[in-house]
This record gives sequence, C-alpha cells and structure tokens, in this order.
Amino acid sequence: YSDFSITVLGLDSIEARSYINALACSFLEYDSDDKPRDETIKPLVDGGTEGFEGHARVIIPGVTPCFECTIWLFPPQVKFPLCTLAETPRTAAHCIEYAHLIKWDEVHSGETFDPDDPEHMKWIYNEAVKRAELFGIPGFTYSLTQGAVKNIIPAIASTNAIVSAACALEALKITTGCSKTLSNYLTYTFA
Ligand SMILES: [Zn+2]
Repeated sequence: YSDFSITVLGLDSIEARSYINALACSFLEYDSDDKPRDETIKPLVDGGTEGFEGHARVIIPGVTPCFECTIWLFPPQVKFPLCTLAETPRTAAHCIEYAHLIKWDEVHSGETFDPDDPEHMKWIYNEAVKRAELFGIPGFTYSLTQGAVKNIIPAIASTNAIVSAACALEALKITTGCSKTLSNYLTYTFA
C-alpha cells in the first residue's frame, strides 16, 4: 500500500475500513514544524452503500479527521430484546431471530448453527414460518430468512453506480488537482 498514492475503498465492514485507515495513517511522517510531509500523505476515498443509501468520503491522513476519529458516528448494530423475540414478535425478523437465537439451541443441544449449511437454514426458515403463523405475521420468504440470519442487505445497482461515480470523481480531483475535494462527506438517500 505504501506504493499507492491514493486508495479507493469499496469495503463491506467497519473493521476492514479501520484496518486500511490505520495503514494509511501509519505512513504519515512529519517535518520539523510538525507538518505532515506531502509525499507521506496517502489519501483515502471511501465509498459504501446499504440498500437505497450510500456515502462517499475523502480522508486525507494528517489533514482531515480519519476514519477512527469519527467511528462513533456509526449507528449501533440493530439487536432485538430477547423478551420481544420470546413473547411478543411483531415482524418477520423477530420470528427469524427467535428460531435462530432461541429455538435452535433448545432443539440442537451442542450443535453449532452453520449459516452456510442449507439444511440448517431450511430448519430456521421452517421454524420461523411456524412462529409467524402463530402470531399472524405475514411476508415470509427463504431469502428473507437468509438475509436476516446472515445480516445481508440487498445491494441496489443504482445506489452503487452513484456512489462509485462520486468516488471516481474524488479520486480524479485528488490525483489531478483539477478541483477541491469533498469536504469531506457525501451522503446519498433515495427518496
Ligand atoms: Zn483519526
């Protein structure tokens, strides 16, 4: 990475972004006035999408806040209270998580649930459907079950196109100096 003059990120997790951010920041060297030396600044352009939402962002180590500086901006991971799963499920996701987090262990003592095993996934799906019928919750599919268990958010081609275009534009601006870069965050929401 130290050979790159700019890194454009299209990563799928906070952990992976943290890693590349730390790497880019580690290349920084300062002169005797405590100013970052230009040739050691390795800008990052980060793009990400989640369904109909996306962002593009420019991080210039030593100049702008880095990824770690603003990591607290991420919303907490969605988790459901166990009592809701056990007593008052209201959505398909509640039923799926009930089968996944509670019912699986009750029935399969000791066997670890493997999300990549289709038999396991089918079992979760069947249990979730039973529970949904019991509580009158509609809208079940196998792929919804898979998505909820594996935390998969569908990728939308148009969001990806818009965000990748924004990233390409920022990379172009940084490499050519033809214009000022984003200062320093762009969010996109389909409305
Ligand atoms: Zn920082």
